[in-house]
Amino acid sequence: PTEACCIGGPVIKGFGRGSKVLGIPTANLSTEGYASLLSEHPSGVYFGWAGLSTRGVYKMVMSIGWNPYFNNAEKTIEPWLLHEFNEDFYGEELRLVIVGYIRPEVNFPSLESLIAKIHEDREIAEGALDLPIYSKHKDDPYLKSSL
Ligand code: ADP
Ligand code: MG
Repeated sequence: PTEACCIGGPVIKGFGRGSKVLGIPTANLSTEGYASLLSEHPSGVYFGWAGLSTRGVYKMVMSIGWNPYFNNAEKTIEPWLLHEFNEDFYGEELRLVIVGYIRPEVNFPSLESLIAKIHEDREIAEGALDLPIYSKHKDDPYLKSSL
């Protein structure tokens, strides 16, 4: 894959909203160094593979954008890893290979409708990532190059 597909770095602290308010934890990455990538790609929901240095490779569905519901001033990169973890992994090296785009970022009239849409996004990502054209990227060496 081309460079544009790949984002990595240590998992940083966000606003703590993912798991606490939505029931959807998102492992935030620093946007530093990714300014051009972020400006060249539309804000919205993407999917792909996430490699965690000490754990493995997982499906992920991700928001890149301003989170209009929360009125953020800056764009964030927030993948939800589609796996149950027993603990947090702040500071761990996280590698993302983004393989597809689901929808543009939109505002929602309520938290319930936002949460429902994110679960729909997750189902789309889960299914798409089983297709050969997307599943093959699970073996991308970038996901494991921090090991
Ligand atoms: P923050 O605002 O600090 O990003 P969140 O509420 O979004 O907090 O929770 C994200 C944190 O939860 C991650 O940094 C990670 O350490 C942990 N976490 C646990 N399970 C997951 C998961 N399945 N996907 C993403 N992050 C997870
Ligand atoms: Mg988060």
